[in-house]
Amino acid sequence: MTKKLSIIVPCYFEEETIPLFYQAVEKIKPQLTDIELEYWFINDGSTDGTLTAMKKLNQKDPVHVHYASFSRNFGKEAALYCGLKNATGDYVTVMDADLQDPPDMLPEMFKYLAQGYDCVGTRRTTRSGEPPIRSFFAKLFYKLINKISDTKMVDGARDFRLMTRQMVDAVLEMSEYNRFSKGIFSWVGFNTKYLKYPNRERAAGQTSWSFWKLFTYSIDGIINFSQFPLDLATFAGFISAFLSGIAIIFIIVRYIIHGGDPTTGWTSTICVILFISGIQLMFLGIIGKYIGKIFTEVKKRPIYIIKEKK
Ligand code: UDP
Ligand code: MG
Repeated sequence: MTKKLSIIVPCYFEEETIPLFYQAVEKIKPQLTDIELEYWFINDGSTDGTLTAMKKLNQKDPVHVHYASFSRNFGKEAALYCGLKNATGDYVTVMDADLQDPPDMLPEMFKYLAQGYDCVGTRRTTRSGEPPIRSFFAKLFYKLINKISDTKMVDGARDFRLMTRQMVDAVLEMSEYNRFSKGIFSWVGFNTKYLKYPNRERAAGQTSWSFWKLFTYSIDGIINFSQFPLDLATFAGFISAFLSGIAIIFIIVRYIIHGGDPTTGWTSTICVILFISGIQLMFLGIIGKYIGKIFTEVKKRPIYIIKEKK
């Protein structure tokens, strides 16, 4: 019996890569036996010819190629969610438009699903073509998040994965506004097999992720999947309360023995005040981050807005 595979492709300024992507997938299609394809290209508010490229493919292959175009840039996570919502396939895969997620891995991925896995993910074994400083921070991020979060995240794992309908439905149940897919895919559980492959460079166009964007993204990941920063605040509070308790006893004892001289100790007092207030401000900021997340979450704004869909 023929099953349907939905391919979700978030696109942001990908006019050059969309046709290449479609060709590359169509090329491996004969290797996917009894599988019918459904494409969902999501235009994440690109202002170049991205939407036109999607429309062209839709005209060429209206049965299989669908697209949705956002009213503005909502981010890759929103585009992924939109794709997952619209996909009707028995299996769903999410792939970047730039062919950094090799379509020729799909046949092998299906083999693992047949063996009983619910999901087959991919991870890069190399980070060639990436600035070393970026790789360094990426490694650091994975080390940190895996220490402080119960949700395990695999270093080098891409968003590129093949999932069963059951897992997709589980992911869709997580309708949170602050979406961090790497965490969400891991949080829902299920048996995931990771296939390794060496990094591939973009087919065309440019990455839209600046260092700053990646940095804030990783902070989001931490805030969304860990409460460790709050525990740290509590811990720091206890330590400083304990130390100041000792200091108070010390001062009282010294006063009793030597008598008091209120004018000395100005420098050390100022140092202590600055240190403690700095720490307080820092933790206020961290708490503020969580409150900000709660705020965006309770507002229940839509995750994306579609302007056009076919
Ligand atoms: N993308 C998106 N919205 C954005 C940024 C990126 O839909 O705001 C898409 C982009 O078109 C691509 C995928 O997300 O298909 C991955 O982006 P990119 O290749 O720029 O990131 P990298 O591979 O360098 O991590
Ligand atoms: Mg890319």
